[in-house]
Amino acid sequence: MAFVSGLKCRECGRESPADPLNVCDFCFGPLEVVYDYATIAEVVSRDRIAAGPLSIWRYGDLLPAESDDPVDIMAGYTPLIKARNLGRRLGLNNLYIKNDSVNPSFSFKDRVVSVAATKAVEFGFETLACASTGNLACSVAAHAARAGVRAVVFIPSDLERGKIIGAAIYAPTLVAVDGTYDQVNRLCSELADNYNWAFVNINMRPYYAEGSKTLGYEVAEQLGWRLPDHVVVPSASGAMFTKIWKGFNEMACLGLLEGVEASSFGPDQNTVHHPAVTTRMHMAQAEGCSPIVSAWDKDDARVTPVRPDSLAKSLAIGNPADGIYSLRVINNSGGTAYAVPEDRIVSGIRLLAETEGIFTETAGGVTVSCLAHLAEQGAIKPDELTVVYITGNGLKTQEAVEDEVVNPLSVRPTMTSFEAAFLN
Ligand SMILES: *Cc1c(COP(=O)(O)O)cnc(C)c1O
Ligand SMILES: [Zn+2]
Repeated sequence: MAFVSGLKCRECGRESPADPLNVCDFCFGPLEVVYDYATIAEVVSRDRIAAGPLSIWRYGDLLPAESDDPVDIMAGYTPLIKARNLGRRLGLNNLYIKNDSVNPSFSFKDRVVSVAATKAVEFGFETLACASTGNLACSVAAHAARAGVRAVVFIPSDLERGKIIGAAIYAPTLVAVDGTYDQVNRLCSELADNYNWAFVNINMRPYYAEGSKTLGYEVAEQLGWRLPDHVVVPSASGAMFTKIWKGFNEMACLGLLEGVEASSFGPDQNTVHHPAVTTRMHMAQAEGCSPIVSAWDKDDARVTPVRPDSLAKSLAIGNPADGIYSLRVINNSGGTAYAVPEDRIVSGIRLLAETEGIFTETAGGVTVSCLAHLAEQGAIKPDELTVVYITGNGLKTQEAVEDEVVNPLSVRPTMTSFEAAFLN
């Protein structure tokens, strides 16, 4: 059962029916899902969530699609790991890793796509499409396979091999566009007006984006229905960043958190900030594409688009759709934003691998190096509960590290040969 009452413009506040629609007819502002929270509050409970499926659909009451038969390849329910070694290295005693690199198609995008695909099938679409920085292509192709619908996915042609193969294996129509992600996205927006396809991050965007709220819910549930003091989140469009915050606030307002009184959502449910939500939201971008961080640095309420040139291709969105909304979240939460130097991306990947045994992609390298920076600056105190979101898998971006890792010892199958190499 989905408790959606419609869509609402984030700029002018006008409401529209819950259709496959992402911009306001009146002012072209972005649309967001509106819920009937009064009814959700009657239905939802910690026990009901805990008894649900071991995927994002355990939070089905808070997602904008019918959860009875979702397009579910088991996105979500990923591990939250106490990071003792990395914590020791950084002087943090209460550090956790949300390891979303182990999702079915190896990135957090499975959360958003599972919701968008379910909604697309509900609307009767027969083609699932997207403009992708890489991981989205993999996830859309995988979910389309599961749903038995066609997939048409668009990627920038300079993508890593692991992402091209990681999408191609599900046999979508894969279109490599000679251009940046922002150009791919513009092309897809034109196509969305002319083809009756469900572009998960264009005409399905209001529903799609809601899937990222589960990154907030899960962390709260895994911490015993409590929220962290700090989170560190990598951002491209900024959508995930805003939705983790929204998820935390929904949990608080619905009375699902330990020791927190339920409260009403107020007149604008999508900007609600429950006073018990004191988590500081820290955004990580890579220096080669950091339009949101630049705006935050300059205390500018607008985001000036940039042309990306970064190793972290999954974060390379020069014109971020949720940029201004994520700036508000940074400010409302007392968080910060940091652009990681390009030459710290691989060191972040290596640090996580060598301390915690987790191989993340370039976006994760950005996140870990941002965390290290925050710890060094004293923005995070040693005992504060901190969660760092690792959103994608290192096997997809092997190019980034292949020249940096140690080569194997080459030996003949004899003891002498081994010892000659090993004892050297
Ligand atoms: C897409 C992506 C992000 C950023 O998501 P946004 O919601 O666009 O900010 C972060 N990490 C990885 C691995 C991604 O693929
Ligand atoms: Zn509007």
